Amino acid sequence: MNVLVIGNGGREHAIVWKLAQSPKVNKIFCAPGNGGTALLAKNVPIPVHDFAALAQFAKDEGVDLTIVGPEDPLLGGIVDFFEERSLPVFGPSGQAAKIEGSKSFAKYLMKRYGIPTAHYESFIDYESALAYVREQGAPIVVKADGLAAGKGVIVAETLEEAEQALYTIMEEHAFGQAGARVVVEEFMQGEELSLLSFVDGETVKPMVTSQDHKRVYDGDQGPNTGGMGTYAPVPQMSKELVESIVETIVKPMAAGMARDGIPFRGVLYTGLMITEEGPKVVEFNARFGDPETQVILPLLETDLLEICLATVNGELASLDVAWKQESAVCVVMAAPGYPADYPRGLLIQGLDRKHAGVAVFHAGTVETSEGTATSGGRVLGVTGIGRDLQAARQAAYQAVESISFEGAHYRTDIASRALGK
Ligand code: ATP
Repeated sequence: MNVLVIGNGGREHAIVWKLAQSPKVNKIFCAPGNGGTALLAKNVPIPVHDFAALAQFAKDEGVDLTIVGPEDPLLGGIVDFFEERSLPVFGPSGQAAKIEGSKSFAKYLMKRYGIPTAHYESFIDYESALAYVREQGAPIVVKADGLAAGKGVIVAETLEEAEQALYTIMEEHAFGQAGARVVVEEFMQGEELSLLSFVDGETVKPMVTSQDHKRVYDGDQGPNTGGMGTYAPVPQMSKELVESIVETIVKPMAAGMARDGIPFRGVLYTGLMITEEGPKVVEFNARFGDPETQVILPLLETDLLEICLATVNGELASLDVAWKQESAVCVVMAAPGYPADYPRGLLIQGLDRKHAGVAVFHAGTVETSEGTATSGGRVLGVTGIGRDLQAARQAAYQAVESISFEGAHYRTDIASRALGK
């Protein structure tokens, strides 16, 4: 079978890498792809928002399945566009993807289906939002409703911070239309982790649990990033806890959406806070997480193509999705300055060295005549795979130390919380 993967990050490299292991996969294309996907797939220079060109390409090249990585094209309705042209595609419809694109929509559905999450109110009027925040007091969380590249969420420790956040979003329009509505939420305390699931509208097949490291520096210091590293599975999460999350959160969400005529097909990403009252939802995303995918897919035993096809065809119930009894740790190597401004075009050394039990996923790289160079803020996701977290982490950091580019920085404490050091 021929597969087209849409996107150009570490997540898409991990998807391509996993697909390349399938005996059923013939050709893999990646649009637009990066320096890493070029090693395993044919990169196609079509931007992710050019649905017409992507669909035409899929038709011309006899693509049997298209897998959509990033949220933007999903929210823009790429799945609907492909389906209208009878092109098989993995991912949720534009309507279903709104659980990621609109926080108030996601909260509304959670309330409707009785899914545990923080109490909230949503506002389009600044004065009403301000009055509510003053009534509730701090700590409190203020969120721009739409996508704001992770910057539209302010966890306010004081009332002043919360008021400032409202002002910035609603009066200064810092996030444009994404901030036309705000969600004001109760502050939740606890361990944060993610559970991704394959969902075919009805059936839910959970993946292994994972934990991201959002802050740029060790010890969760510094500004937020797209994610500086991940590990899986999360040993603090018992089997019972995972089961209860699936039963009280993921399944009711899938069933409710199907009942409401917006069935979710694809990867449902549940961001959770394990509070004293039990697990509660922080957010839903409508796709594979980045960099969670870089630790999840190396642990997947079952053929990814088979799972994707079963998801698209509503046949997940009859498929056994199996996981390796191993662990994975991904360390993100970032460009100097990231998450603020950073230079591009820095040559990367050491990529040709092979390490047992290590997969180096490219996030922001490009092939140049002089070799592979950086082209983004998050450059590489170096994933170590081992019999346990300790072994996986050791493998990842050994590989990281053998790779270099000018000003590269990374966290040295990925998975420390789980390992107690
Ligand atoms: P991203 O795209 O970076 O995942 P986002 O912009 O979709 O984030 P959220 O996931 O809703 O926003 O929130 C970002 C972070 O803010 C969360 O990962 C969590 O650490 C914190 N956060 C969000 N809501 C709450 C809450 N109610 N209580 C405590 N912390 C919260």
